[in-house]
Amino acid sequence: MIIPKTREEIELMREAALLVSKTLGMIASEIKPGITTLQLDKLSEAYIRDNGGIPGFLGLYDCPATLLTSINDQIVHGLPTNRPLEDGDVVSCDLGAIVHGFYGDHCYTFEVGDVAPATKKLLQVTKESLYAGIREFKIGNRVEDVGHAIQKYAEDHGYGVVRELVGHGLGRKMHEAPEMPNYGKKGRGKLFVEGMTVAIEPMINMGTKNIKQLKDGWTIATRDGKPSAHFEHDVALVDGKPELLSTFEYIYQVLGIKSDEEKEFRQKPLVL
Ligand code: MG
Repeated sequence: MIIPKTREEIELMREAALLVSKTLGMIASEIKPGITTLQLDKLSEAYIRDNGGIPGFLGLYDCPATLLTSINDQIVHGLPTNRPLEDGDVVSCDLGAIVHGFYGDHCYTFEVGDVAPATKKLLQVTKESLYAGIREFKIGNRVEDVGHAIQKYAEDHGYGVVRELVGHGLGRKMHEAPEMPNYGKKGRGKLFVEGMTVAIEPMINMGTKNIKQLKDGWTIATRDGKPSAHFEHDVALVDGKPELLSTFEYIYQVLGIKSDEEKEFRQKPLVL
């Protein structure tokens, strides 16, 4: 059952989302060749706790980490390890935090040093597909309208859309109804309702959509070994329109990126 939130609850959820956004901004300043994902995990846990939050993933479904780090052909749920990041890697950093009893949960795929142009393109298109999906999260539309937009955008670029892992409702639980697949047909699925809150999160592969699970029991990787990217935002349905709760602006400040990609999804300006 979809659990719509009040305006007050949505503002509390924004705080949870923004703590995740700030933590990813901190990660952006630390990511470079040589650092290990285990170090990034420890930094994330300390940052969340120091800023009044509780790590959202740690202990959930027995997850052993605060930060899930999926490198290159890894798609999602990569467990942090002692492997130092290398020049040319891409690493998706997926993070959750609980503030005021609500979850924030989003993800950004970072470039480490000098990344191959084809991989940069994959990251760019995956992020654009996320916004194509968010644009369809509005009153009058249904769950698969979002998935359809993401799938079409990614497949038009020749990429594979992961089927087994999906976005989700978000609130006092990390995973609420509805499931938000990154594929689908127009006009199908549950109708969106005012006040609902979701995590939209395309996982897009450069090659085949097919996946495999690694021996650690957590990490999911591409079957063909080609790279994958993952971008995720937390979004509320406010006044019939998508309202972003999370932001990549903290990351962009660190990386020196100027972007107005989030502007159309904000009903009031973001104060960083
Ligand atoms: Mg999620």
